Amino acid sequence: MPNDKTPDTDSPDSKSLDCGPGCGGPRVRAIPPGEDRERLMCPDCGYIAYQNPLIVVGAVATWEDGRILLCRRAIEPRKGFWTLPAGFMEERESTREGAAREAWEEARARIDIDHLLAIYDIPRISQVQMIFRARLLSPDVEPGPESLEVGLFAWDEIPWGELAFPTVIWALREHRDRLGRSDCAPAVNPTPDALARWERML
Ligand SMILES: [Zn+2]
Repeated sequence: MPNDKTPDTDSPDSKSLDCGPGCGGPRVRAIPPGEDRERLMCPDCGYIAYQNPLIVVGAVATWEDGRILLCRRAIEPRKGFWTLPAGFMEERESTREGAAREAWEEARARIDIDHLLAIYDIPRISQVQMIFRARLLSPDVEPGPESLEVGLFAWDEIPWGELAFPTVIWALREHRDRLGRSDCAPAVNPTPDALARWERML
């Protein structure tokens, strides 16, 4: 909980402060006092450059007829493959704001965020993905700079063989499994049983 007595310098913002003048910058890997793993440190002032997982926010955004917004990637990784509008959170925005911003940036889509559909752990690449359900405020979409093309897809039109990432498939399946329901707890990484069930449905 926020504490009014906490000075600004103790807030997480202070993490972004870098070395002082005359420092050579974080360049030595060492275990800081009281910690249990190596960090990149500045030997001059003791500054620690923490590296922590990144949060990706995105949306399964649907039009009134149920069609789902997909974007074909204009950038690596997986250039040319289809994905949900999603991307890294920016500082000082909420997860919902981030998901709406990504829909605008990638597909010029105005969306109303509904609820959290899924939260996926991807420790291999130190990433957490939060995928919301959202409603398109208009079916008029067009590619932003990071998309080759964008479109609204009925379920039977989804290019399953050309989706960019497993989590795109997972989120689409969870969306489908929960059609008409909005009171579910967010989905997590699918179990092997769920994956096998979805495979049989293809
Ligand atoms: Zn320093």
